[in-house]
Amino acid sequence: MSIAQDVLCEVHNCHYWKEGNLCSADQIYVVSHNGSQASNEQETDCKTFEKAH
Ligand code: SF4
Repeated sequence: MSIAQDVLCEVHNCHYWKEGNLCSADQIYVVSHNGSQASNEQETDCKTFEKAH
């Protein structure tokens, strides 16, 4: 099993977003809409998101 090293993200209005769909956060925290389980990708979100000013 490998550990994720690189994160690609298309959320341009996040404080951590950088050109090239890169994320500049030291780490990100992904959560599910349904407790600790998800049925598909649409049920997960990045909780580290911060709206850019
Ligand atoms: S913190 Fe989350 S939403 Fe923000 S750029 Fe990184 S991966 Fe995307």
